[in-house]
Amino acid sequence: MSLIVQKFGGSSVADTQKILAAARKAIRAAKEGHKVVMVVSAMGKTTDGLIALAKQITDRPSTREMDMLMATGEQVTISLMAIALESLGYQAVSYTGTQIGILTDDAHTKARIRSISTETMRKSLNEGKIVIAAGFQGVSDDGAITTLGRGGSDTTAVALAAALAADACEIFTDVDGVYSTDPRLVPEARQMDRISYDEMLELASLGAGVMHSRSIEFAKKYNVPVVVRNSGSDAPGTWIVATPESKTSSVCGAAIAKKEARVTVVGVPDRPGVAMTLFTKIAEAKVATDMIVQNISTDGKTDISFTVLEDDLPLTVDIAKEVVAAIGAKGVETDTGVAKISVVGLGMEHQSGVAQRMFRALADKEINISMITTSEIKISALVSQDQGADALRAVHEAFALQVRPDDAQGPVVLSKETKLSPDKLEGEYLSRLTGMEDIIIESVSLDNAQARVTLNNLPDTSGIASSVFERIAKDKIVVDMIVQSVGRNGRANISFTVSREQLPQTLTIAGELAKNFRSDAPLHNPKVSKIVVRGTGLRSHTGLASRIFRILSSENINVTIISTSERSINIMVNENDSQKACDLLKKEFAKEIL
Ligand code: ASP
Ligand code: MG
Repeated sequence: MSLIVQKFGGSSVADTQKILAAARKAIRAAKEGHKVVMVVSAMGKTTDGLIALAKQITDRPSTREMDMLMATGEQVTISLMAIALESLGYQAVSYTGTQIGILTDDAHTKARIRSISTETMRKSLNEGKIVIAAGFQGVSDDGAITTLGRGGSDTTAVALAAALAADACEIFTDVDGVYSTDPRLVPEARQMDRISYDEMLELASLGAGVMHSRSIEFAKKYNVPVVVRNSGSDAPGTWIVATPESKTSSVCGAAIAKKEARVTVVGVPDRPGVAMTLFTKIAEAKVATDMIVQNISTDGKTDISFTVLEDDLPLTVDIAKEVVAAIGAKGVETDTGVAKISVVGLGMEHQSGVAQRMFRALADKEINISMITTSEIKISALVSQDQGADALRAVHEAFALQVRPDDAQGPVVLSKETKLSPDKLEGEYLSRLTGMEDIIIESVSLDNAQARVTLNNLPDTSGIASSVFERIAKDKIVVDMIVQSVGRNGRANISFTVSREQLPQTLTIAGELAKNFRSDAPLHNPKVSKIVVRGTGLRSHTGLASRIFRILSSENINVTIISTSERSINIMVNENDSQKACDLLKKEFAKEIL
């Protein structure tokens, strides 16, 4: 018999009518022959209201008591849902996180799940009951109620689906599914029939907002098919599964992070350990950094730029200034009013010219790019905030994201594509349930086939990146990593890597470009190596990047370029150091490697 988990978010249980409607959805699934576990959030904006109450008393309530308080929201919904089901003639039973046995660590208000016991739920399901579980909450070793972070009910739902080896996890919400971009900014945005875990992870962490990103990590790790659907309709929604919707498209979605600020630490001595000091200090203050770019140094000095949320800027600047004094750098420069535009797609891994298409779209609208970073399945460009929406629209159109790809796979047909007999799998699943949310490192690998080219002092005007990469693509040169960093005095610096065989050819073109733009003669390093740390949960487990820096700097290995994505951290080092760096990281992550 199949089992599905249905999660209803706050807006889908906002009043008793909606609770009844949700109950009917569960009954319908039960009548179709599924065992059903419901996971519910607090009604409407209840959690916000509870937080506001505590804030009326103090600005700094203890996190233990905040968890105690917030968890009440979900407890209201589970009981009402059970009452609704019983009133409709169905047997149901509600459970809190503690009653189920959702064990977490003790990081109150942002706890991580360690294990889930399935016994209680199994027993009730086998008695023919619909099980209703409180989302968002768990219990720590010492019996204190914990919560998983705002929006955490998604994570509860997917985690229960994983623990029960469910056939699918349905996320009912107030939108029809996952869109190619924010439909409020780009009305042409298309609702996708399916999207891959990796793509969804990138989009979720880029602020696409539909789902808690930790829930997608769970789904990926345990291969749970997830579907995001509208609780107010019967539309099929968007499936989040292992494979992408289209095998031929390079990009599936675009996202904008509107309120970003850029920080540049200028004149940083280029020696191992400096980046580590900076980012460790920032991580300790719990500020999330993004788009980290370190320039190739000139005269032993380099600039390090990164972005943070605008709200975090004052704190970040304070920290950066302290670090500047400690490491003997020159100063800190900031730029508020920037927005980050990103495109995401599994397909870009095997296609060239994707970055260039994005840069061209922005150039055609005369939008200047101040920073670029790329990773295997994501390209991000920093633009000015007032051009953000235009930039998003331009990029969405350039990749024709409003058009359904010809080879698009439709929604998943449950019985056909998903696991058929979950019960058989349970033994294996249960043995994997300890440390459910631990980071998983799949591999640490070394790519010794790359060379780096740097163009310094390019004019910082719109269209530069586009001209550079169009010219390079014309000669069929395949570019791997691209970074553009903010230069001084209105100049920009671009570095990129190519294969070592294509270096001579690339240098000829780079020389031409430098002449045309009257920039500095190109610099290069014929033997750089890329180390790729791949895994799941790399970004939500903060501090991983600083751990990598710490290890490498302890052995005096200098990192020249870093780029991070949801599934890998890529670092560029000199070839001489590369084997050692790779071995060190393998040793460091030995415990976490699958
Ligand atoms: N009620 C919690 C919140 O508002 C959890 C959730 O809705 O997912 O964040
Ligand atoms: Mg929610």
